[in-house]
Amino acid sequence: MQLQCALCHKNFSITHVVHNRGKGLSAQIQCPHCNAWLGRNRLLTTGKIVGFYTAVGAGIAGYMMGDVNHIVTPIIILSLILVGVTHIMDHLLLIEAPEKNDATND
Ligand SMILES: [Zn+2]
Repeated sequence: MQLQCALCHKNFSITHVVHNRGKGLSAQIQCPHCNAWLGRNRLLTTGKIVGFYTAVGAGIAGYMMGDVNHIVTPIIILSLILVGVTHIMDHLLLIEAPEKNDATND
């Protein structure tokens, strides 16, 4: 999985991230190139998760109840569009710029 830094715009792999802080939706990672702290837009991430589970839930409901496909199908389509749009917009955001002085001994 390739990520792009919001500050220096260099690409890096998630496996090259040495420092991270926080958990779940508010988790932040540190760019291995410029040491800037990066995070995700919580609203977009939440929208992506809600859209995904709505699509899954509607799919299961349609499978279990059978005769509701005229309701379930558009719900699934709209949910998948929501997931797609939020996924495209979901970039890393700059949370905190790196300190100017050398912070190698942190
Ligand atoms: Zn960077």
